[in-house]
Amino acid sequence: MTDLYAVIGHPIAHSKSPLIHEAFAKQTNQDMRYEPILGPLDGFEATVHDLIAKGYKGVNVTVPFKFEAFKFAKQPSKRAIFAGAANTLSFADEVRADNTDGAGLVRDIEGNLKVSIAAKSILLIGAGGAAEGVLQPLLEAKPKLLVIANRTLEKAQDMVKKVERQKSDSPTTLTGCTFADLQSQQFDIVINATSAGLTETALPIPNSLFAKNCLAYDMMYGRETPFMQQARQNGAQVADGLGMLVEQAAEAFYIWRGVRPETRTVIQQIRNLPKA
Ligand code: NDP
Repeated sequence: MTDLYAVIGHPIAHSKSPLIHEAFAKQTNQDMRYEPILGPLDGFEATVHDLIAKGYKGVNVTVPFKFEAFKFAKQPSKRAIFAGAANTLSFADEVRADNTDGAGLVRDIEGNLKVSIAAKSILLIGAGGAAEGVLQPLLEAKPKLLVIANRTLEKAQDMVKKVERQKSDSPTTLTGCTFADLQSQQFDIVINATSAGLTETALPIPNSLFAKNCLAYDMMYGRETPFMQQARQNGAQVADGLGMLVEQAAEAFYIWRGVRPETRTVIQQIRNLPKA
């Protein structure tokens, strides 16, 4: 019997996840179907209960339901607990939750872009859900320094406190700051985890931020953001978040199916789609 999966979000029509999982299933000969579901804003739990009753094996969860998905699950993974949010639910005897966003980012940076994180200085810009989701996996890759810069300082500081509360024995110096504190600092990897690119807004960050051979990574995909333009003009290697999107999906696919799909061709396939 064909196994059923879905992605729940609101909105959902733009989601590339069905195409990605369809490509993975074809490539690895898995008998499964994966569909987009528009979750009512006040009806996430009811939607999931309905899917479980219909025999679905799992779902991906996207904006704005990642926090609700985490609360809904009975067995959250360590990385979901840290993020306080889940993007992957598995329906077994109990509902399990995971967060694969950070693993996807690290795999894209290290595996696809061939940039090692260990012993590097990293700037993570933003302190919203996406930044929280990637913080723990970034720290596990053992950078020398990780600075979280956010428009609202308190949120960056809260993320730092959260790591400190876990009494991490990490080799990384972790600090939080605002954009104004970034003058005269340089980083090997700069990750834009803000949603500023959605509105074509430039970030108030100095041009001097990008060290020689810097990787500038924008979690957004589908368009060149002002952040990417600024980084390119200042000599950085620039990447968008499409690789992260495909890699987080591959990690979810692995959780569900126990098979790790090849991702390079799928990233290329999605990149080559005509623009909507
Ligand atoms: P949130 O709404 O949770 O957080 C938004 C963040 O952006 C906050 O830190 C906010 O700062 C900051 N921000 C928003 N506008 C501005 C601005 N004009 N100037 C400076 N900072 C700004 O969003 P998410 O964390 O969920 O998503 C962030 C981005 O990551 C989105 O573009 C999303 O598409 C992308 N993403 C990509 C993924 C992928 O697989 N490639 C996966 C998940 C997310 P403040 O706290 O001060 O409000």
